[in-house]
Amino acid sequence: MGFKIRTKDLNSVFEKMSGSYKIVAPIVVEGAGRCSETDIVRYDEVKRVEDIEFNRKSDYSYKEALLPITQTILFFTQDEYKEPVVNEKPQIIFVRSCDLHGVKRVDDIYLRNGFVDPYYKKLREGVKFVLIGCEKSFDNCYCVDMETNKSDNYDAYLKVSDGYAYLDIKDDELKEYFNETPKMEMEVNPDFVTENKIKVNIPENLTLDVMDSKMWDEYSERCIACGRCNFVCPTCTCNTMQDIYYSDNENIGERRRVWASCQVPGYTTMAGGHEFRKANGQKMRFKIMHKVYDYKKRWGYHMCVGCGRCDDICPEYISVPGCINKLQDAMDEVNSNDK
Ligand code: SF4
Ligand code: SF4
Repeated sequence: MGFKIRTKDLNSVFEKMSGSYKIVAPIVVEGAGRCSETDIVRYDEVKRVEDIEFNRKSDYSYKEALLPITQTILFFTQDEYKEPVVNEKPQIIFVRSCDLHGVKRVDDIYLRNGFVDPYYKKLREGVKFVLIGCEKSFDNCYCVDMETNKSDNYDAYLKVSDGYAYLDIKDDELKEYFNETPKMEMEVNPDFVTENKIKVNIPENLTLDVMDSKMWDEYSERCIACGRCNFVCPTCTCNTMQDIYYSDNENIGERRRVWASCQVPGYTTMAGGHEFRKANGQKMRFKIMHKVYDYKKRWGYHMCVGCGRCDDICPEYISVPGCINKLQDAMDEVNSNDK
């Protein structure tokens, strides 16, 4: 059971919530797109419901709210180190269904993979997720085949239409904010897509033998190793470390972790300069197999949630679902080579 309220009343609720929560949602940043005079949709703090972009897919995911692009994890001197004090309010994060499934994957890596990452845990604690529905599939989405098009583990669902907000709230703390708000009770069910134009076929017989296929060579030619596909991905979680020494005293500084990309040079470089995957096709192979093969072996579901952002952003028009759909032929190729 849900209810309907006026959006101006929702703004009063936002104001009350802002005392205890940071509300984070996709917004349009004008003129910040990758080509001149284009916009970008990315996550930032919002104060009013009108600030939220409901009608476009965000170019970047919710991920930066929980895993900042750059995060100071400690300050150091010659003799000691100290962790930064984090006093941020818990967040209310607006997400679509695919991204809510993405949160589960990031939680796997940072909370359930044999250790708990304290920096992620701090930002993750107390987070409430508000689901944004999808009335139609966006370009390049293939959430249906990845089984991420529907979610019911949201704290609240919100749809805004014609001056009204339609809500289904499951979380008791969030419910309380609406106690005084005039409302009309009604059935509110999230909008989920049930079909995408893009379909993917992940072969049943996929094995690591596919690594020997010639299909990967194409990506050595086309991929320019910019790493954009990783940065927009809601399920890529890799980071690297940087020690920053202050210019006024080079013995003190801070250690930051920053997003990293398995597609860019240097990702696998070891001491002595040895690098495991030099060709860009090999990097693509690693990424694809992680997204639709080995992650599932560990967790029981694929890492990729089919949001299609990697395809939206690639300057070389390289398609991840297009690559996934070549895997069956590649398996046939390597199996026939064995005969
Ligand atoms: S690999 Fe591409 S489609 Fe899959 S979750 Fe990442 S950005 Fe989305
Ligand atoms: S966005 Fe495209 S070109 Fe850039 S690293 Fe990814 S696949 Fe390669």
